[in-house]
Amino acid sequence: MFDTISMLVNAFGPSGRENRVAEVVTQMIKDKVDEISSDAMGNLIAVKKGSGKKIMLAAHMDEIGLIITTIDDKGFLRFGTVGGVLPLISLGQRVVFENGLTGVVWYEESIESMKDAKIDKMYIDIGAKTREQARELVEIGDMAVFEGRPVEQNGLIISKALDDRVGCAILAELARRCPATDNEIYYVFTTQEEVGLRGARTAAYAIRPDLAIAIDVTRTGDTPKSKPGAVSLGEGPAIKVKDNSVIAHPRIRERLVDCARENGIPFQFEVVDKGGTDAGSIHITAGGIPSGGVSIPTRFIHSASEIVDIKDVENAARLLEAFIKF
Ligand SMILES: [Zn+2]
Repeated sequence: MFDTISMLVNAFGPSGRENRVAEVVTQMIKDKVDEISSDAMGNLIAVKKGSGKKIMLAAHMDEIGLIITTIDDKGFLRFGTVGGVLPLISLGQRVVFENGLTGVVWYEESIESMKDAKIDKMYIDIGAKTREQARELVEIGDMAVFEGRPVEQNGLIISKALDDRVGCAILAELARRCPATDNEIYYVFTTQEEVGLRGARTAAYAIRPDLAIAIDVTRTGDTPKSKPGAVSLGEGPAIKVKDNSVIAHPRIRERLVDCARENGIPFQFEVVDKGGTDAGSIHITAGGIPSGGVSIPTRFIHSASEIVDIKDVENAARLLEAFIKF
């Protein structure tokens, strides 16, 4: 599982630029599914044919990033955000562009307090001396992502972009296992989740599944003075009850609970008031699609160093395997 996750997190893929991730996924699963295609939004849709229910499993390929807005005459880049990027978490980070160029995020040192370290007081230094020199390397509209190579340590994985390449890894592993089922399984690797759950909406409309599950990360409440939260690292995948985008369909939630209990898989319940997942757009598409979620407890979401427990990841794959065979 770590190797699969590593290959996926290392692929460059901010929202709207997911094609490299899609290529990695395609190589991983193309021999194990009956059809694989991409749509106008860039969603990658792999199908394992069957005569039973149409089940859509969705994980998003895009990661958060920065987008160049202006380049000053000294060659420093000003930027906007792609998805939920917090200024304080960006400070001092290395970022990398699609062409491999590295930059460092820093701030205008005249600010009085770090509270004033807003994105518009920050810049990326790529070591260029002039605007012209910078423009040989980057252009307005180019995107960069955090650098943060994957590390396996004490049963945990630390990396950038675990949100949501860990979900992509679970779907890819599941597709490779070819679970024996009559159901028709749609492994959908979606785009532009971080900017508004966009890819999943068109994919679900086209597929019109009988039911859908989004696989994504969820924050934990187990770090010092963190906001209270029910989910902890290492205590099992979280079965979604509610987030800010969806109230899980009760029958899907119950079925996930039954699958976990019958197979001795530990689980937790996810009830959060912030953040959304692809289920948020899927469930209100095409006349309504019963939807739920399986979430991986994750520390430090939307940083260059997100942390998951590999047991939770493996148990999420087991839970989904049981679910699609049900
Ligand atoms: Zn996500």
